[in-house]
Amino acid sequence: MTDVAARVREVLPSVRADLEALVRIESVWADPARRDEVRRSAEAVSKLLSEAGFGDVRIISEGGAPAVIAHHPAPPGAPTVLLYAHHDVQPEGDRAQWHSPPFEPTERDGRLYGRGTADDKAGIATHLAAFRAHGGNPPVGVTVFVEGEEESGSPSLGAMLAAHRDELAADVIVIADSDNWSPDLPSLTVSLRGLADCVVEVATLDHGLHSGMWGGVAPDAVTALIRLLASLHDDDGNVAVEGLHEASAADVDFPAERVRRDAGLLDGVREIGSGSVVQRLWAKPAITVIGIDTTPIASASNTLIPRARAKVSMRVAPGGDAAEHLAALTRHLEQHAPWGARVTVTPGDVGQPYAIDATGPVYDAARAAFRQAWGADAIDAGVGGSIPFIAEFAKAYPEAKILVTGVEDPDTQAHSINESLHLGVLERAATAEALLLESLAGGQERSDRGL
Ligand SMILES: [Zn+2]
Repeated sequence: MTDVAARVREVLPSVRADLEALVRIESVWADPARRDEVRRSAEAVSKLLSEAGFGDVRIISEGGAPAVIAHHPAPPGAPTVLLYAHHDVQPEGDRAQWHSPPFEPTERDGRLYGRGTADDKAGIATHLAAFRAHGGNPPVGVTVFVEGEEESGSPSLGAMLAAHRDELAADVIVIADSDNWSPDLPSLTVSLRGLADCVVEVATLDHGLHSGMWGGVAPDAVTALIRLLASLHDDDGNVAVEGLHEASAADVDFPAERVRRDAGLLDGVREIGSGSVVQRLWAKPAITVIGIDTTPIASASNTLIPRARAKVSMRVAPGGDAAEHLAALTRHLEQHAPWGARVTVTPGDVGQPYAIDATGPVYDAARAAFRQAWGADAIDAGVGGSIPFIAEFAKAYPEAKILVTGVEDPDTQAHSINESLHLGVLERAATAEALLLESLAGGQERSDRGL
């Protein structure tokens, strides 16, 4: 173990330099003007992987952004591990709010600031470090797959997995694109909530009415819509829709002060819902109103508004079915309109939740690697949001064991301004991954694991 840790420490300065070079490339696939940058970024990743010792490196695309596949063959009898990351990044947002230029990696207080320093170019850096720590010749087969459009919802991932099925096949898939509980405490992400949304329209009148003539008798649609939306929660902020699934989260303490700080709750504003914080974030449904269409204030007049609509977004607990949840939400909306107001619900996106059965020898090996690298046990974490591409991998390779790891921590601010990577976390994540590659090769234990 010390050997591997020491070798990671040796290769880290070069990996850090390579990470910085990648961050300087503005690989924002969502911005059509910067798609050449994404191509340049794929070429840079491909070059790094070749130089690290992968014999077979290719840039592929299936009508979308370029991705990179690199393969190092498995020694006889050894398993193959697929290491995933993505080289595209979120747009940088308002440049003026960055404390240092978003595409100029800058170190402050042990953190490296810049767009993509963590999400997810640090995933690439982790894989490079683990591979280089083994001198470019790890005791297992390694395939690195670096996608280029994750931040745009991975539209062609399914096609890539289908077209390159055999090249990407692996016994273990490590997806390094999630976060850690803290810079000192690693997480193994084992569940993700799903998503279902809809647009609800409420109509009360066949045309607008003078509010002085009819106010007090005829209901306006905005007030009716607000009362309908209010019925989605009880007074404590628990979701009040019937028939939704609830799972159970790990027993981890998420202190109230940390909730206030991380979420930016204003003074005096209370948390909503009941149950532990992680139960509410990872294992219970949540409903949020994410948009309302009605008359803007600037053009408001003394009129009873005849119709109004809102977009309602629901997070679905692991184990629930997103389509059934959307049906339950629709039923609730149709049944709770006040004053006989007419309700029309238009279904939107549906994304299934996901839960990994994180038991068995591969997960034991991963937990042991985490413990050695971090000096702490990994916690089984949920993610409140959805990462649809994880389900794509599970569907394409139902036999593979999936490990969702990452290099983010609560201060990373992925997708936001001033994104940063904790440099200690990079070292620990890379060490854990290098140790995992070593232990998955593990001689006689291997057959016990069914590998
Ligand atoms: Zn990411």
